[in-house]
Amino acid sequence: MSIASNASCIFCKIIKGEIPSFKLIETTKTYSFLDIQPTSEGHVLIIPKYHGAKLHNIPDDYLSDLLPVVRKLTKVLKLDENDTPEGEGYNILQNNGRIAHQIVDHVHFHLIPKKNDKSGLIVGWPAQETNFEKLGKFHEELKKELEKEEKL
Ligand code: AMP
Ligand code: ZN
Repeated sequence: MSIASNASCIFCKIIKGEIPSFKLIETTKTYSFLDIQPTSEGHVLIIPKYHGAKLHNIPDDYLSDLLPVVRKLTKVLKLDENDTPEGEGYNILQNNGRIAHQIVDHVHFHLIPKKNDKSGLIVGWPAQETNFEKLGKFHEELKKELEKEEKL
């Protein structure tokens, strides 16, 4: 049972069994099930048993429990059989906020088999022009933020 639960959240209801799901692996902190609108066969969702809309809302112990479940699911889906860069692959996707394509406001990781160009995740990647001076300045700003974070 999740510690933080939201009575109106569809994924909290799935965790509690109040609405049905095609369950796969479940641990004390993680739940996984088939996506009902798959982008490719084997499209799976993996969720923490903790209600939070965005990744930063989820405690570390829930996040630590979740990624090994994703790894086990790659085996269940036989996505681990191709160790070469060519041929079938898979994507892990985790959206935060409407602008980032999040629809359900309970953190979820998509595991999406990528078997061809037409199914699975299709990515837009608008790489921006930059230069080392600009990146260096940004890096300095981030290092200051990191120092503050370390003092917390
Ligand atoms: P996102 O755009 O990252 O918020 O993705 C939400 C995902 O949840 C979509 O891929 C939906 O198909 C999926 N979804 C929504 N409701 C359910 C449900 N009841 N059971 C399984 N998957 C669901
Ligand atoms: Zn929830």
